[in-house]
Amino acid sequence: MDPQTVFCPNLACPASGQVGKGNISVHSQEDRRYKCKVCGKTFAETKGTVFYRLRTSKDVVVTVVTLLAHGCPVQAIVVAFGLDERTVLSWQSRSGKHCQQVHEHLVEQPRDLGQVQADEIRVKMQGLIVWMAMAIQVQTRLWLGGVVSQSRDRHLMRALMQRVRRCALCRSLLFCVDGCRAYIDAIRKTFREPIPGQTGRPRLRAWDGIIIAQVVKRYAHGRVVGVIRRIVQGTETQVKALLRTTQGVGVINTAYIERLNATFRSRIAMLVRRGRALARQIPTLHDGMYLVGTVYNFCTYHKSLRVPLYLPNHRRRWLRRTPAIAAGLTDHRWSIKELLSFRVPPPFWQPPKRRGRPSKAMKVLIAKWCT
Ligand SMILES: [Zn+2]
Repeated sequence: MDPQTVFCPNLACPASGQVGKGNISVHSQEDRRYKCKVCGKTFAETKGTVFYRLRTSKDVVVTVVTLLAHGCPVQAIVVAFGLDERTVLSWQSRSGKHCQQVHEHLVEQPRDLGQVQADEIRVKMQGLIVWMAMAIQVQTRLWLGGVVSQSRDRHLMRALMQRVRRCALCRSLLFCVDGCRAYIDAIRKTFREPIPGQTGRPRLRAWDGIIIAQVVKRYAHGRVVGVIRRIVQGTETQVKALLRTTQGVGVINTAYIERLNATFRSRIAMLVRRGRALARQIPTLHDGMYLVGTVYNFCTYHKSLRVPLYLPNHRRRWLRRTPAIAAGLTDHRWSIKELLSFRVPPPFWQPPKRRGRPSKAMKVLIAKWCT
């Protein structure tokens, strides 16, 4: 137990979310609990992780979640480990929600995205069809998040673009999407900013440097017979420059997101085509998607992201990277245990709003914890 690496999870505590400030001490080695000296509360070592209040050993949970994140059917785990089906499903849902928090904390940070590709998967569930829309940053192969909806319409595309926007800096950004018209409207409406200095509802101005390209495939008898590539917004020179910096050579395509869709299809048991492991509820699919997506980002080496290291005597070694390493979010590949034990810090404490001047004690707290 190392109190220097832990923060206080109490939202009402002035020290909440702050690491290494000397306010945490070990409360009990036996019960594995810490104590915060500022608010006086104690909390378990596993608070904020997937393992909080689980009675099964960590190793079993990690093994089961690893299997779930790689497409193992729930029934196989039930038989192999002798667990109840509801237990396995609750661990899956818990890990999915935890992964979504990790994703929102680490991946949804503004960065220069370069090229983004977006696409949807049609998912057959028990008694209904749903759509799963996802986006990828091409240069680092980072999965930027996804949205599940019952209809493939502008609301789905808007929700996906809002996720992408949280990951984007206002720089040159090329979108490669399929022929669905709702994308164009969603991109144009999402990537806008209010013009400052106005009263009332501010007018919005579109970001500069947003380029939209479409790849429309024509099918006959289930096979692609023709591809039309068109630029909806922006110039050919801009598109060529962005393609060169983000994917080397090549043309406008949606190959990267289609490859990622294939990874998701193979890793979420309920997405396997013609399979029998259908999902019954949309939240199950949503949690499964976040579990697989975050494991893909943080725990899986991507072959095309490796870089050569040149050693003396003309020897060469490959440095393998995960999408998260390539995006500069971490410096090593995370194990699944590390991902499930990652504690997302709560937002820093804000002093309560009161009329008049703050008291002396409050001033001391603000000076200590809000600077
Ligand atoms: Zn505290």
